[in-house]
Amino acid sequence: MCGIVGAVGDREVSAILLEGLKRLEYRGYDSAGLAVIDSSAARIDRRRQLGKVQALVDDVEASPVDGRIGIAHTRWATHGVPSEANAHPHMSGEHIALVHNGIIENYEELRDELRAAGYCFQSQTDTEVIVHLVEQHFRQSNDLLDAVRQTIKRLEGAYALGVITKDDPSRIIAARAGSPLVIGVGINEHFIASDVLALRPVTDRFVFLEEGDLVEVKQSKLTIWDANGD
Ligand code: GLU
Repeated sequence: MCGIVGAVGDREVSAILLEGLKRLEYRGYDSAGLAVIDSSAARIDRRRQLGKVQALVDDVEASPVDGRIGIAHTRWATHGVPSEANAHPHMSGEHIALVHNGIIENYEELRDELRAAGYCFQSQTDTEVIVHLVEQHFRQSNDLLDAVRQTIKRLEGAYALGVITKDDPSRIIAARAGSPLVIGVGINEHFIASDVLALRPVTDRFVFLEEGDLVEVKQSKLTIWDANGD
């Protein structure tokens, strides 16, 4: 089982993400990573380390990651060896980053389709197809929520997802089917995580997502669509 943590608020999020990952270490993992939107530089700052969360903490201490919105992950490899290249977050180009817990069963078919469309794969994971699919849809709609909505229609298997884009630094789009994900509700801030334990230091108010839910997580607003789109 891997761990997902995400945060959007009015303060620096990297310490919250790292503390959340530490609190999810009990689930087991082989690598850890985070991606934060540095809005002053208009770029996604991604860090990944093979091994312990502490290696990621050391990396961020040595060279701080600034930003008020980000996603983080501890990986339990299912497709591809434990390595930095296979660690999450995965990115499509420089502008979209994604964390995933679960297994995409039809990833080979999707990978062939995406390769034919010109996407280059940087990892051996099943996960990477998801971020390129999001990018492909985002190219058409320029709307991350719509891009994730279209993407999950194509996925067979299990997933909990957190997705961000530097082109819209106001929101995390999250979704779940077959893997756990909760929303933490703070004061003028929101969080996502695989388990409430990850978010205990920052909130005690939670929304437990149901199968098929799609969520737009903003600093001061949370919107959830169920599997029927309601
Ligand atoms: N299947 C994905 C991978 O191998 C996600 C694994 C996980 O849930 O940590 O990268």
